[in-house]
Amino acid sequence: MLFDTHAHLNADQFEDDRDEVIQRALDEGVSHIVVVGFDRKTIHGALELAETYDFIYAAVGWHPVDAIDMTEEDLKWLEELSEHPKVVALGEMGLDYHWDKSPKEVQKEVFRKQINLAKKVKLPIVIHNREATEDVVSILEEENAGEVGGIMHCYSGSLEIAQRCMDMNFYISFGGPVTFKNAKRPKEVAAEIPMDRLLIETDCPFLSPHPLRGKRNESSYVKYIAEQIADLKGISVEELAQKTSDNAFRLFGINR
Ligand SMILES: [Zn+2]
Ligand SMILES: [Zn+2]
Repeated sequence: MLFDTHAHLNADQFEDDRDEVIQRALDEGVSHIVVVGFDRKTIHGALELAETYDFIYAAVGWHPVDAIDMTEEDLKWLEELSEHPKVVALGEMGLDYHWDKSPKEVQKEVFRKQINLAKKVKLPIVIHNREATEDVVSILEEENAGEVGGIMHCYSGSLEIAQRCMDMNFYISFGGPVTFKNAKRPKEVAAEIPMDRLLIETDCPFLSPHPLRGKRNESSYVKYIAEQIADLKGISVEELAQKTSDNAFRLFGINR
């Protein structure tokens, strides 16, 4: 049983073979998937998949790159969606200083608004961070995000920052990059994260794990991430799968 906690199966890259990709995930032992929507179109796509497939859940939020597009109506819509039985988290949200479509100040404001919405509706949050670590962690601390906790998705930072996040009730999720040959630090950090704080994800269609690096990623490849982290931890893949799935069930409030 593998839990892919972050997938974009709603992306256009899966337009032609989405159902086959989902079937392949099931065949490879993936028992649960959270599909992430981060703007109007992809939120609709995530809900549609969550309503179609029993084992698919949705996270809904506004991506920092597109923060400038989020209106007050959108925020109200997110609040309504928080009542949806298959919506298990808000996000992905956060800061992304790699792209400059949305100014930093707008990103921060939209991030803060979504954290406060999550506290109001009592859902965990999924955090996207790119080249903005200090600001992301400061905002989480200032806004008391520990009240709801959540996931540092596709984590690539230091152990020290991971610790600050875990102190706020966050889980640390690893994706494809932890399997890359030259990924010394992600491997060292993953080895040190306590078992009850670890999650695995694909972030597909992006960031395919080794040995499929460069190809379109899909949920069935989460097994490569499980194998890598089990190896780093010196435990069996079965144990790693079980513990990370238990963590995801606890975090998302999913009753098996
Ligand atoms: Zn992301
Ligand atoms: Zn994502």
